Amino acid sequence: MCGIYGITAVPNTNIVPWGMAGIRRLEYRGYDSAGFALQNSAELTIIRSVGDINALRDAVSGHTLVSSVGIWHTRWATHGAPSERNTHPHTGCDTRFAVVHNGTIENHDALRRVLTAAGHRFTSETDTEVVAHLLEMEYRGNLAEAMRAAIHQIEGTFALVAITADEPGVIVASRRSSPLAIGILPDARLIASDAAAMAIHTREVVHLEDYDIATLSPTSHMIVDAGAVTRMRPSQAIELEAESAEFGGFPHRMLFEINEQPAALSNSLRGRIIAREGHVRFGGLAAVEKQLSAIEDLTVVGCGTAYHAALIGAMYIEAYAGLSATAVLASEYEYRRTSSRRNSAMLAISQSGETMDTLLAIKGGKDRGILTLGIVNRVGSAIARLTDAGIYNHIGPETSVASTKAFVSQVTLLALLAIHLGRQRDLIRTDAERMLEAVLRLPDKITTALAQSDHVRAVAEQFGWMQSCLFIGRGYQYPVALEGALKLKEVSYAHAEGYSAGEMKHGPLALVDDRFPTIAIAVRDSRRKKMVANIQEIKARRGPVIAIANPDDSEIASLADATITVPEDDEFLMPVLTAIPLQLFAYWMGVSRGINVDKPRNLAKSVTTE
Ligand code: GLU
Repeated sequence: MCGIYGITAVPNTNIVPWGMAGIRRLEYRGYDSAGFALQNSAELTIIRSVGDINALRDAVSGHTLVSSVGIWHTRWATHGAPSERNTHPHTGCDTRFAVVHNGTIENHDALRRVLTAAGHRFTSETDTEVVAHLLEMEYRGNLAEAMRAAIHQIEGTFALVAITADEPGVIVASRRSSPLAIGILPDARLIASDAAAMAIHTREVVHLEDYDIATLSPTSHMIVDAGAVTRMRPSQAIELEAESAEFGGFPHRMLFEINEQPAALSNSLRGRIIAREGHVRFGGLAAVEKQLSAIEDLTVVGCGTAYHAALIGAMYIEAYAGLSATAVLASEYEYRRTSSRRNSAMLAISQSGETMDTLLAIKGGKDRGILTLGIVNRVGSAIARLTDAGIYNHIGPETSVASTKAFVSQVTLLALLAIHLGRQRDLIRTDAERMLEAVLRLPDKITTALAQSDHVRAVAEQFGWMQSCLFIGRGYQYPVALEGALKLKEVSYAHAEGYSAGEMKHGPLALVDDRFPTIAIAVRDSRRKKMVANIQEIKARRGPVIAIANPDDSEIASLADATITVPEDDEFLMPVLTAIPLQLFAYWMGVSRGINVDKPRNLAKSVTTE
């Protein structure tokens, strides 16, 4: 989601590089476009671009931009597509006022009508633009007063930060329900939607309260509250080291990203589910809806973790949309002759959006003339640009090499896509409603699953001696077993294989003895009985078993040597929940072996080679 970063510094300080670095610290929130406004003598300079901060940087390369006052924004579109004209900052009829906004303005339609009748001309589809026009209309020589008049007219949630060409050195800010904090330096004031983003420059911050109006100048700031009373809000020290603030106080990025999953998933879901109508909305697919309703088969491609998500996604699409769906490793795609009929489509999954194998598979799909879609996290990345249409994860940057939050988001978005395709076909509304309501409960259930972290750590330590192990599951849990094994390999260097539990007797059972553990995913789903039988077969051969089970499953708990529980849920969402303890297991195993879990040997985050 959206971010705000603003700076006013003493004259002759060039804050442009500072602001560009500042807004990058908010990238983790996920966004689809970015922009900034600078104050210079009698006018404002406004630069905006769709895509990531690199696109913004490219948009300004070659220009000499110098200013001591500026406001930056990363937008996560709620009203109007991610296009340049909808990107913040927004201005009124001319460029004397610029405003950036996090949140949504609920009565923007009514305000827009009033302002239009008063002669204001709108250039974007955003709710935010009404604020710029309100500032323009209410301005009588004092931006803070204009802001007060504006926020009295708007309903909704907001963090608003504005500048005007008429008041050099001044930034005005206000908020309701959306965070904003002022950072204090000897010769500058900062304002940001996340205090941690300022930690590298200052430890001294002041958090604004609802309806506060703050006026910042380079060496002072003033806060006036909702009742027009001037307030000396106490400054607070940001406790965290600037570096660790970036991963939320956790010792590793991987653990930060694992713990970020409830929030990251909420961001992926925001604005996409209309549960009461059994309806899913993907803005990025709007242009190809007609083609989607006609597709008959889908090939889902990915590498590593994204391939495991693809395996689950293909099952969802078969089950709920009734299409024939196949997951293929991106690097194997060119050797396959998957369907290339007129109504075939390909869906490519990649966190970075730069994965070379996946890019080449998409090119292969294009050569076969089929519709290409993507599920990508990095906004404006190569895959996002190459595919015909797609879905962004919106989970913020994932920087730990071992993917965690991207997997959870990919699987959940695939479930939504299956429901969406299903609704275009035979999936009945009440079933879709029930499924979507379950999806909305997932972030809370992930929080419950994360609460097991200390127990998972103890189990990882109990089995610290192991050199090699198996992960087994059935149905939706088979790809999770593959993913659990991959995570463990990546960050602990233990040898691990994922298997469908049904395959045990066809080979892997030969490995089992009292020094060879098996991690068995045996939740209360339609496969549980068979999983219990598999666990018994392993126990009969003295194999240690770690079970991933639902709470109060005494049968499994009594069979297994250790049990880790995850909350119960609809069968189709269980892979999201069972993935969590397996991520934690790999993490704690890696940490106990002294491995740099964020940067395992021989691996890179974006795999840009074939
Ligand atoms: N509602 C605003 C828009 O769609 C702001 C979204 C945000 O918080 O980034 O432009």
